[in-house]
Amino acid sequence: MTGADDAALPAQTEVAPTDASGGPALLVESKELLVLAQQAGRFGIFEWQVADGAVQMSPHLLTLYGLARFDGRYDSWLRCIFREDRVRLTNLIEAALADRVREVEADFRITRGDDATLRWMEARYIVFYAGADRGPSRVVGINVDVTEQKRAGIQLRVFADSLEDRVRERTRELEEEFRARQKAEESLRQAQKMEAVGQLTGGIAHDFNNLLTVVLGGIEGIGRQISNLPESPATARIVRAKDMATNGARRAAALISRLMAFSRQQSLAPTPIDANKLVAGMCELLRRTLGESISVETVLTAGLWRSFADENQLESAILNLAVNARDAMPHGGKLTIETANCHLDDAYVDKFAEPVVAGQYVLIAVTDTGTGMSPSTIERAFEPFFTTKEVGKGTGLGLSQVYGFVRQSSGHVRIYSEIGEGTTLKIYLPRHRDAAAAGGSRAEPLPASVMHGDASQCVLVVEDDDALRAHATEMLRELGYRVLEAADGAAGLALLATDAGVDLLFTDVVMPGGMNGRQLADEAARRNPELRVLFTTGYTRNAIIHHGRLDAGTELLTKPYSFDELASKVRQLLDT
Ligand code: ADP
Ligand code: MG
Repeated sequence: MTGADDAALPAQTEVAPTDASGGPALLVESKELLVLAQQAGRFGIFEWQVADGAVQMSPHLLTLYGLARFDGRYDSWLRCIFREDRVRLTNLIEAALADRVREVEADFRITRGDDATLRWMEARYIVFYAGADRGPSRVVGINVDVTEQKRAGIQLRVFADSLEDRVRERTRELEEEFRARQKAEESLRQAQKMEAVGQLTGGIAHDFNNLLTVVLGGIEGIGRQISNLPESPATARIVRAKDMATNGARRAAALISRLMAFSRQQSLAPTPIDANKLVAGMCELLRRTLGESISVETVLTAGLWRSFADENQLESAILNLAVNARDAMPHGGKLTIETANCHLDDAYVDKFAEPVVAGQYVLIAVTDTGTGMSPSTIERAFEPFFTTKEVGKGTGLGLSQVYGFVRQSSGHVRIYSEIGEGTTLKIYLPRHRDAAAAGGSRAEPLPASVMHGDASQCVLVVEDDDALRAHATEMLRELGYRVLEAADGAAGLALLATDAGVDLLFTDVVMPGGMNGRQLADEAARRNPELRVLFTTGYTRNAIIHHGRLDAGTELLTKPYSFDELASKVRQLLDT
């Protein structure tokens, strides 16, 4: 134990010594213990005589402060305090002394004298007050170096903060994932609904289509017989009744064809299309349809790619959109049709549950300045029979035609609309690249005079629907052909084997009995390569039609077909 240690200890205390019986040996021992305790506890002893400003620091406290020498002045001690903590510390001490506080605690940083590093000190002092005014006389206590604890605390806080940040970040990610999943589910639900409605309407439409073929055919048959009747009031009534029935059946056929369009079961005859030309060609019709209060503007991109779709159907789609635009602008407004080349990227197509292939598309956008649509209307707008228009004004089949046609053409359609702002419908049709692979072209109907046949030419009708078969057979006989008929593929083949004179096979595509029209035709062609084949179907989702397109070289007559259509198609095939 050194003398300096003695000097560092308070000369006199006002608290009673704990060891009242302490002899010299015990005293020496306790001084040594005190020094060891200071080292172990990383603290040092501090005493300040307030009146004269003398400060004593124990040798271990001087070590903690990094001081080799200390002049014993309060001001010198104060200079060791890190300057940012100095004012706070002196204020704290002054306030405590003024309030006659006995025990004072403070923490502050010091700048070590030797290496100028910052250390955290925690101080605990006892203040003695003396004299008549009981002013502060001595401040005695300890400074503990708590740098390590502080550091650990700070690290803990940083860790906790970063943990909090991480939790917050992860929560945000999870919320985002959740929202994305919700959107995907919503989109999937919507796609599934459209699919289900499509199948339902498709089934009904298909059956009705067959029935209508018979009805229309019957009416046409009546029409052809009327010329043989003598002129009379009764004949006139028959003619009027026939015309009414024809009108009704035609309208029904149109309706059915829109349903078929929605359910993507329409036979399409896609060709390479210049959408600019098509839109420009429609302008006159649109102006007439929309009336004077609506101005029509077209913005046609130069260098527009060609697309590949059924031209008639695209025309109907644009017309449907224009009619909707007109209905949305009862007080007038503006209709804009734009075309553009565009690219749908992966990020865009990933958002949709419906299959959309990323790639190059031709965009046709129809915009109006009308009432706009609410989100719930947008959600249902493509459904067949969904309409917000009053009875008699809307059928709810306009947008469903657009939807079905575009989807069947491997395209994509979107609605952008804001209540009160107007609506844009965007149709994306795939870019057409290979000019050589142009698909089924539509032949102009031949004049009626050259459409008839003669008994030297034989047509084999294969159709499982009895009424339809009878109807087709009847018409072909009326046209002058020799006609054979069979109810399924096997019977058809048997007839072909026994009768060598068949020139044309006219067959339904979907038939029961294990052999569809395509298989029948393949087998028949194997036996007789000269044989011409004409398919008929209400569906396109079947063996000969891929993605709703005609196979190259496939001739197809879609139900319901008229007498003239059948006549001209059969004639055309037999003449080539
Ligand atoms: P319809 O026109 O017979 O009602 P659509 O299938 O063409 O049937 O349209 C369905 C519904 O979508 C309409 O009743 C209407 O509510 C809404 N709609 C379609 N196009 C527009 C448009 N351009 N502006 C505002 N609403 C529209
Ligand atoms: Mg409409």
